[in-house]
Amino acid sequence: MKKDKGLLIVLSGPAGVGKGTVCSALRQEDTHIQYSVSATTRNPREGEVDGVNYFFKTKEEFENMIEHDQLLEWAQYVGNYYGTPIDYVQKTLDEGKDIILEIEVQGALKVRERFPEGVFIFLMPPSLAELRNRIVGRGTETEDLINKRMNVAKEELEMMKKYDYVVENDEIHLAVDRIKAIVTAEHCKKDRLIHKYKQLVEVD
Ligand code: 5GP
Repeated sequence: MKKDKGLLIVLSGPAGVGKGTVCSALRQEDTHIQYSVSATTRNPREGEVDGVNYFFKTKEEFENMIEHDQLLEWAQYVGNYYGTPIDYVQKTLDEGKDIILEIEVQGALKVRERFPEGVFIFLMPPSLAELRNRIVGRGTETEDLINKRMNVAKEELEMMKKYDYVVENDEIHLAVDRIKAIVTAEHCKKDRLIHKYKQLVEVD
């Protein structure tokens, strides 16, 4: 029997909301979910490793990837390019495994055009004040960059309306549990399962 395709899960939310932290926590618990590694032109932060956190590219290299159609989506965010290499995503889905893309909202909308069956989850901060605290607390950004990120974040919050699910990141373990529940529910959707039971149930 043909293997089911995996779920393409998109996780967005304003920078600082804790997508990275939630993803790492999820990663420790749920080993069958794969994670897409994005390409970016921004500089690595301390501790970030090329090929693990991102594929760090020059502007020329990134534009070359765009030209050669190697990206499922890409966007410019606070002066840098970010994009999802398509090959790994496609291969993972074809193998029947689920994959999470942790990307910003413009890119997520482009993914929706190509994968309308994707599962789109928006991670919400408990409040704007809390979001600013988290961006400041990271200690890696200048004041100017913090303000730019806050302005982008306010616009990003509006985009929540375009997603299928909203998960508040009040506490990491709760956010992780909610995402796991969403993934489980998506796997139980009738349309994904009905062909499996076609000997028992009439399928029109
Ligand atoms: P950061 O610089 O904090 O790692 O990421 C900045 C923003 O870019 C975050 O909202 C992050 O989710 C988003 N991002 C990371 N990778 C990608 C990608 O491949 N495509 C898009 N569209 N956004 C991405």
